[in-house]
Amino acid sequence: MSRKACVVGAGPNGLAAAIVLAQAGVQVEVFEAESTIGGGARTLELTLPGFLHDFGSAVHPMGAGSPFFSSLPLHDYGLEWIHSPAPLAHPLDDGTAVVLEKDLHAADAGLGVDGRAWRSLMQPFAERWKEFAPEVLRPMPALPTHPLLMARFGLHALPSAQSLASRFRSERTRSLFAGLAAHSFLGLDEPLSGAFGMLMAIPAHAVGWPVAQGGSQGISNALCGYLAKLGGKVKVSSRIERMSDLPQADVVLFDVTPKQLVAIAGECLSSGYKQSLAKHRYGPGVFKVDYALIAPIPWKAADCLRSATIHLGGTFEEIASAERAVRNGQISDRPFVLLAQPSLFDSSRAPEGKHTAWAYCHVPNRSKVDMLERMENQIERFAPGFRKCVLARRVFSPADLESMDANLIGGDISGGVIDLKQFLFRPTWRHYATSDPRIYICSSSTPPGGSVHGMCGFHAANMALSRLGRS
Ligand SMILES: Cc1cc2nc3c(=O)[nH]c(=O)nc-3n(C[C@H](O)[C@H](O)[C@H](O)COP(=O)(O)OP(=O)(O)OC[C@H]3O[C@@H](n4cnc5c(N)ncnc54)[C@H](O)[C@@H]3O)c2cc1C
Repeated sequence: MSRKACVVGAGPNGLAAAIVLAQAGVQVEVFEAESTIGGGARTLELTLPGFLHDFGSAVHPMGAGSPFFSSLPLHDYGLEWIHSPAPLAHPLDDGTAVVLEKDLHAADAGLGVDGRAWRSLMQPFAERWKEFAPEVLRPMPALPTHPLLMARFGLHALPSAQSLASRFRSERTRSLFAGLAAHSFLGLDEPLSGAFGMLMAIPAHAVGWPVAQGGSQGISNALCGYLAKLGGKVKVSSRIERMSDLPQADVVLFDVTPKQLVAIAGECLSSGYKQSLAKHRYGPGVFKVDYALIAPIPWKAADCLRSATIHLGGTFEEIASAERAVRNGQISDRPFVLLAQPSLFDSSRAPEGKHTAWAYCHVPNRSKVDMLERMENQIERFAPGFRKCVLARRVFSPADLESMDANLIGGDISGGVIDLKQFLFRPTWRHYATSDPRIYICSSSTPPGGSVHGMCGFHAANMALSRLGRS
């Protein structure tokens, strides 16, 4: 008899889970609350007609480097990665920019006195990405498949970003590393912040930091197209509020965070498990702005035009201080701003001659503070005249983001803090399993956490399949 599964949520992890189940011959139905599939990987006309903006994810090192996505024929379903000449640029106050080149030899040359140190740190993992990625993009196993490689990573990566950066002699390289590590939402003096810095830099060399042609919707549409080919079905505008909203199924996978799981399926879960879920901690939120621009951003450093991603925050100490403030529940007057300028490399994003930009900064969870002026001051600092290029802007507070994707609790884009505890037990020691053997959680609140890679959905669905096989 054929087995049936429901998946709640058509984000990258929900779609990945549905594909794994459908590949195994399970009949899958996905229920998505919003009118468009994709969750954090959607592209919408958020400002003016003809300007396509990524609602959530914009740049995809983990998407391009995902072992699961790489195993799928997503190209046949329209997914095209576009690489800017350099993955990342980090402008400084002297009017120059530190550029992270994809090629490790070019990076070595470009980083001057720190070139060798950078290369010796990143190369062992970048050149073995195919072995390294499956190890880091899963729950931390007791016995890794590549123990020496992982032991080496652990030695380098457990310390804080501050401690790792101390091996660089130039302030420029330290600044570059701070921007990479700040993706963690951790203080740069906290353990694991160094690992994040490395986990952003390594795929920059191994696979690049591409944008998806036409926007991140292209990733979701390709996943959905392949799922349809396997016989899976997706229903949009179908918010699931209780278990009785779902048809009968052998297993249900939830691409939602712990808080939502309890609200929807609480009656099926043991009180002990619900207590564990209640301890799950959400992280800081983000404040985001999308721009329609009349011209490319007028960067002081011309090198910034070579990269789709720009980190705006100045020196290591400045970025560390901005992130420390957020960790302490405060806002920073000089926030660290992550900016993407995809239309420079993908003309489909804006009408001819016009451009888009996507930018966000970290703020405390549920913050109501308007960060627009502070963010634009940071952009103007490195691109004087930026404001004059703005045709239209769309601002998203943490609450605005959550209203468009219920998983973005208080503006948290990672499904919960990734500190040491929530790295190991995410969201509980059971990872994807719950106290009900029919119910699984597969969102970024499970290992390996945030980013568009589908690996949470992949592992959750494999666990569900092994249980289905046994039942
Ligand atoms: C502003 C922003 C910037 C980001 N930048 C990047 C980036 O550059 N690169 C990157 O890799 N990642 C980035 N991310 C993170 C990335 O988008 C997420 O990590 C990823 O989308 C998580 O996938 P998911 O499937 O776990 O959850 P989501 O993508 O959030 O999907 C969850 C889905 O479940 C649906 N849902 C929730 N509740 C219900 C319900 N009750 N019933 C039915 N459906 C429901 C939601 O509507 C949503 O579609 C960013 C995110 C944001 C918001």
